[in-house]
Amino acid sequence: MAARTGWPALKARVSNRLSRHFCTTPFRLRNQRPMVSFTFDDFPESAAAAGVSIFDEYNAKATFYVAGDLVDKWCGHWQGVRADAIVELHRRGHEIGCHTFSHAPATDLDAARLGAEIEENRRYLLGLDPSIRVDNFAYPYGLGSVWRKTQLAKTFRSSRSIIPGINSGVVDLQYLRSTPLINHHLDDDGIDRAFDELAEANGWLIFYGHDVAAEPSAYGCTTSLLRYALNAATRRGVAIMTVADALRAAGA
Ligand SMILES: [Zn+2]
Repeated sequence: MAARTGWPALKARVSNRLSRHFCTTPFRLRNQRPMVSFTFDDFPESAAAAGVSIFDEYNAKATFYVAGDLVDKWCGHWQGVRADAIVELHRRGHEIGCHTFSHAPATDLDAARLGAEIEENRRYLLGLDPSIRVDNFAYPYGLGSVWRKTQLAKTFRSSRSIIPGINSGVVDLQYLRSTPLINHHLDDDGIDRAFDELAEANGWLIFYGHDVAAEPSAYGCTTSLLRYALNAATRRGVAIMTVADALRAAGA
């Protein structure tokens, strides 16, 4: 989503940068084999429609981070998913994860406001279906707050950043790395390189994206890029897992 400017943006960048270096929740991944998770932020309707029908071809499940306030609305780049699709995908075994309710970045929020945002989003999702487990968080705009990580660790098993790279060895569960599955940032060769690194590290590759379409927004991917990544995983025998399942497989 659109870049932010001015003093708040600078403050956010500094806090995000510090987040990378102050590991609040170190954890050694103990997965037996390389894993990949496909995650989508803000949950555009096209990720639920075009995206999920591709995941079905591979019998694979994805993780969708919802901001309740974006559901069923046009955000300027795509139409938000409908509430009934969230429930349906949850019941089919996809994971519903948590953003902030309003999509405000954690770097802009003090502890009380972040707590209220998370509580509102959780209430919204449990109102759709009380069996939704809201265990994992993604930082809106990818901006991790060095001040809020300890707070997030009390509520979530993990928080996902948008710092690219393979998660392997000791990771910070409240600042997981993820690689853009976004045509503006990654092509087929980039996907192959990411899977090469993944195999070498026996790690956990997390992709993030937004919409999935023949002509996606600047923040989304084409159906063919998504298929290419799923083919690469299948061909290489990499386990495709939701974030929740990958954490379980890693012993977290
Ligand atoms: Zn987002």
